[in-house]
Amino acid sequence: MSASSDVIPVDTLISRLRSAYPGASYELNWSTPLEMLVATILAAQCTDERVNRVTATLFVKYPDARAYATADRAELEQDLKPTGFFRQKTNTIQNMCRALVDEFGGEVPRTMAEMVRLPGVARKTANVVFATCWNDPTGVIVDTHVARLSKRMGLSRQRKADRVEDDLMVLIPRSEWTFFGPAMILLGRYVCKARKPGCDGCVMEDICPKLGV
Ligand code: SF4
Repeated sequence: MSASSDVIPVDTLISRLRSAYPGASYELNWSTPLEMLVATILAAQCTDERVNRVTATLFVKYPDARAYATADRAELEQDLKPTGFFRQKTNTIQNMCRALVDEFGGEVPRTMAEMVRLPGVARKTANVVFATCWNDPTGVIVDTHVARLSKRMGLSRQRKADRVEDDLMVLIPRSEWTFFGPAMILLGRYVCKARKPGCDGCVMEDICPKLGV
């Protein structure tokens, strides 16, 4: 059966995501909002499993924002090296922690407006922290997988992550926001891949408009 609409039916999409990926969530280890923030930055272009191996010792060595802010740069780079893109990640984490110390007394702020003022922290990272640490659905997490699938499913025609998120926040019920991102990421990672979407074996095959596929 082929989809007759240009937009995937959202209720069915969510119920099938719930069946395929029950309890989908981020697998990053953390015990404080700062740790979640650091782990989320390290998870870019890296598996959660590898990040967890690195943070097991990292979080002991750097217990607070001041420790990252004042760390020897070369040493911090070596500590972050296994997660890839380590120079950029060192830069981001150190600048972010300096801003936390200078502007927020070393604490992670509790509003989106303050959070996205931190150097290197975009809405995606902030949404992960709000949803995971405070169970506060401030938005829909949009990474490269969510953006690609949203386009193929007809949920958004936008290219920029923030604009895709605007569309998704209208279409997806707020109660589903924190589940939707991680579940779509799993579908994108294992089935609806960038170069070769696996439509034949996909649970959305009969309802997805497959735009651009
Ligand atoms: S794999 Fe195909 S059917 Fe499944 S979500 Fe992607 S484009 Fe749609």
